[in-house]
Amino acid sequence: MLRLITDFDGPIMDVSERYYRVYQFCLEKTRYPDQPVQQLSKAEFWQKKRSRIPEKQIALSSGLDEAQSQAFSQLRRQTVHTEPYFEYDSLIPGAIEALLKVQQAGVDLAVMTMRRVWELDYAFKKYNLERFFPENRCYCLSNDYVKTRDIEDKPLLMARALAELPPASNTWMVGDTEADITAAKKHSIQVMAVESGIRDRTQLELYHPDLIVQDLSSAVNLILKE
Ligand SMILES: [Mg+2]
Repeated sequence: MLRLITDFDGPIMDVSERYYRVYQFCLEKTRYPDQPVQQLSKAEFWQKKRSRIPEKQIALSSGLDEAQSQAFSQLRRQTVHTEPYFEYDSLIPGAIEALLKVQQAGVDLAVMTMRRVWELDYAFKKYNLERFFPENRCYCLSNDYVKTRDIEDKPLLMARALAELPPASNTWMVGDTEADITAAKKHSIQVMAVESGIRDRTQLELYHPDLIVQDLSSAVNLILKE
């Protein structure tokens, strides 16, 4: 049996608009009333996220001072995973077609994400994604989980998945960050990184995934050709 474990944000969902709206909100909330700031364009902002520029640095390059940049990144952390902002997430083009294709090919499909249960449910309902991922193929965080860092939490999820899922002859992981690549490599799972998410090719290369592909569609085509 062939198995595909896919990350959610990056391969399936585009979170760039949510992150950008939160950036705008935090910039506005943090600046002093008469302080001029230089709001980044969405393209500039997302390019910085993709090259893994720290939030504090993004705040500084938007015109905030050192102390404000601390407050900015704290507010950002408190805001980015709150309900009103999830409505800005959208599907990555071609993701649904790719999921249909793997499903029709009889590949065992699982999702592995640092989203909490309610955050995953929100998108599942909005985009009718439950049809691809039954409950015993969903690996996410509980609503009360205390996050540390994705790069530490994700391998824990992977360990749980590998202990619980029935054995597969061949498993691929698809994800868009260093956390995905690290989780897969720690457990000797083959991993494809996608460029449709929050890291650019240069960042992905640093973690040596088996392959770097454009998006989930390309990943699925490669897996099915094997
Ligand atoms: Mg991701």
